[in-house]
Amino acid sequence: MSEQIIVKNPATGEVIKEIKKNTVAEINEAITIGEKAFKTWKEVNANEKSRLLRRWADLIIENIDELAEIITTENGKPLVEAKGELKSGVSYVEWYAEEAKRIYGRTVPANSGDKRILVSKQPIGLVAAITPWNFPGSMMLRKAAPALAAGCTFIVKPAVETPLTTIRLIELAHEAGFEKEVIQYVNGRGSVVGELFTSSKAIKKITFTGSTNVGKILMRDSASTVKSLTMELGGHAPVIVCDDADIDFAVEQTIITKFRNAGQTCVCANRLLVHESILDEFTEKLSEKVSALNMGNGLNQETEIGPVINKDSYEKIINQIDDAVSKGAEVTTNNQDKHSSENEAYFVAPTILKNVSLDMNIMYEETFGPVAPITSFNKLSEAIEIANDTPYGLASYFFTNDYRNAIYLHDNLDYGIVGWNDGAPTAAQAPFGGVKESGLGSEGGIEGIEPYLETKYLSIGNVE
Ligand code: NAP
Repeated sequence: MSEQIIVKNPATGEVIKEIKKNTVAEINEAITIGEKAFKTWKEVNANEKSRLLRRWADLIIENIDELAEIITTENGKPLVEAKGELKSGVSYVEWYAEEAKRIYGRTVPANSGDKRILVSKQPIGLVAAITPWNFPGSMMLRKAAPALAAGCTFIVKPAVETPLTTIRLIELAHEAGFEKEVIQYVNGRGSVVGELFTSSKAIKKITFTGSTNVGKILMRDSASTVKSLTMELGGHAPVIVCDDADIDFAVEQTIITKFRNAGQTCVCANRLLVHESILDEFTEKLSEKVSALNMGNGLNQETEIGPVINKDSYEKIINQIDDAVSKGAEVTTNNQDKHSSENEAYFVAPTILKNVSLDMNIMYEETFGPVAPITSFNKLSEAIEIANDTPYGLASYFFTNDYRNAIYLHDNLDYGIVGWNDGAPTAAQAPFGGVKESGLGSEGGIEGIEPYLETKYLSIGNVE
């Protein structure tokens, strides 16, 4: 087995860098170091933790051009999106720099007047994170920030496609003043590192972002050590466009939620459900705009859609288009000659499909690519039935200007995140997380620090 991880630019197929895979001994050593460092880091006072997090956030912003170029080069997304990702990640660091100072306990009335019950929160211990390639910066930052704010030590394994962003961000954390032992990274294949993390008694929590299948493996393997788990997993987001919606606005927001990062976003729209009375107008307007999106190397300023991450992704997406077309779907975008898989760089032209039926794979499988199938509905109850017919429950969206539609849709969508006239609902102060097979727990908001804390209480008796 190779000892190196070869990082390639997905827009060109060129090798950017080779980095060393950590050996089992090195990973176990990192775990031991993190466990030991917890004993001192947990004692650092909240203001100092907050100061270090703020300094880290500042350094990321000071180095944003360099970091964005790393993200674009290893992940492929356009530079402007890479900067957006970093700003989003930094907003989590800033938010948890503040929350570090607000880890409150409480006093609870006891059963008898001479007793006292004090509830307090303590950091859970060493936390291990495993992150995906689609947001190599922000996925790591929104785990590290609450963990460090809570007083946990942190060790992360980034995806093999995109380790360079994590390496640079952690260098900046050390520059900001975090001890090297408090925040660490290791590199290696997920299956190998995952096994070491899940079986380690020193690691008290695993926080994972990635596919539902891998999440299930980590949950199963963590059972033997009864670890705390946060799971941010796959999605299959519906977008519901009601008959009263502002169509131009819905088109614009759908493009934001569907085509960001070439459709490789867990909260990406995967299915568009449009009221039958506006179906033709919506499809036409969306197809025209999507056909005009500029595809290319993310380092070019004019690029709006970068490559997909690798050959497997490319083949999965093209297969979904072929499957849909073979079952009667029609492609309404005029750019299908632009799909390309030359020189180990894989581009899927942004595609809209109409005449879609529920037996097509794209209506159930996560696409993770720039393809949007459109189907229609008549009653809102029908839209809800289609929208909820999936094991996933991460993000959903609807467009309406009628508050009665909005309340009905919000109440009935089985999703952790709901965007009403909003294609970009992620925010550091909001609890991002999925229901059903999309995950466990939340990242962001006051909820996002809780998973890094243990609750305990002290019952004080009265010695006569
Ligand atoms: P993935 O295949 O699950 O990989 C994610 C991470 O898990 C990588 O670091 C990978 O390591 C590691 N991994 C793979 N097999 C493992 C195992 N057996 N044990 C432990 N770790 C293992 O997912 P992906 O393709 O990178 O990312 C796309 C998926 O992530 C999509 O399903 C997407 O919806 C989901 N996602 C969810 C959220 C959310 O917040 N809910 C956000 C972003 C993405 P390698 O480096 O070896 O591949």
